[in-house]
Amino acid sequence: MQGVDGKRVTGDQNLLVPVRCFTCGAPLGDIWYEYQKRVSNGEDPGKVLDDLGVKRYCCRRTLLSAVPYLDELSAYTHIVTLRKYKLENRRW
Ligand SMILES: [Zn+2]
Repeated sequence: MQGVDGKRVTGDQNLLVPVRCFTCGAPLGDIWYEYQKRVSNGEDPGKVLDDLGVKRYCCRRTLLSAVPYLDELSAYTHIVTLRKYKLENRRW
């Protein structure tokens, strides 16, 4: 499935809103649309989270790794895999 900008899109982005933090259970659904709107307008995600009062790392992680952003994050998966491979095969 192709998104508006030509990038691959995983599923319907509106269906998988993180309602609560997966770790601490803090409600995040009420700030999701505001966060997504501001980030899509080009604002820095970290500053938006600060403005919205999301201070805990677990809550920030939940929003930053939500399904609409998986395709962007997966671009870095090969780097992590390569580093892991190098570490596992390191000879002492
Ligand atoms: Zn949390």
